[in-house]
Amino acid sequence: MEEEKKRRFGKGSRRCIRCGTHDGLIRRYNLNICRRCFREVAEKLGFKKYM
Ligand SMILES: [Zn+2]
Repeated sequence: MEEEKKRRFGKGSRRCIRCGTHDGLIRRYNLNICRRCFREVAEKLGFKKYM
């Protein structure tokens, strides 16, 4: 239905771009990533200080 189209990737559906969870999502750095994946990506991005 039409309603589903709108809700596909709406404003309120922020998820981790890596694993798709909403748990512990970090939006600070515009990463849209969860804490777990953040730890993995942090190294590459140079966020080691925050670990
Ligand atoms: Zn994740």
